Amino acid sequence: MTLRVLDIVGGTSVDGPGLRTSVYLAGCVHRCPGCHNPQSWEMSGGKEMSVDEIIAVIDENDFNVTLTGGDPMCQAEGVAELARRLKEAGRNVWCYTGYTYEEVCGDAVMSSALPYVDVLVDGEFEQAKRDTGLRFRGSSNQRLVDVARSAAGMVTLWDD
Ligand code: SF4
Repeated sequence: MTLRVLDIVGGTSVDGPGLRTSVYLAGCVHRCPGCHNPQSWEMSGGKEMSVDEIIAVIDENDFNVTLTGGDPMCQAEGVAELARRLKEAGRNVWCYTGYTYEEVCGDAVMSSALPYVDVLVDGEFEQAKRDTGLRFRGSSNQRLVDVARSAAGMVTLWDD
């Protein structure tokens, strides 16, 4: 299983609680006006890495992990495998996506990642709802979904 990876950065603090390793995955179909990272949209961007190679880089630090991009759900099959391996190794996993939680739940491939994701930061970035005071998200429509405590039609938000 391989994924296209733009970058892997250890010690980030803006993509979830504590110091984390952020994995920036290539490709996004949402094209939100005002996107902070339009250079991530190209599906063939970055470089191809196996799940083993990605985990080897992550394992250089003892941080929890955030999958971001781009939209990780554009590579959902590989993301499910990567997230599963990370959870089995005891890491807390956050995942950003431009899809809503309900859209992810309704898709067989994307939803296969959910059992291994602690928090799904969902929804497109909406410029009209931009708020620089929000934690870990750019616009107020986006939610920090506590996946283990949620189900389609009944979202529980993450709260530390
Ligand atoms: S979902 Fe995220 S990466 Fe994709 S266009 Fe929107 S803000 Fe940019």
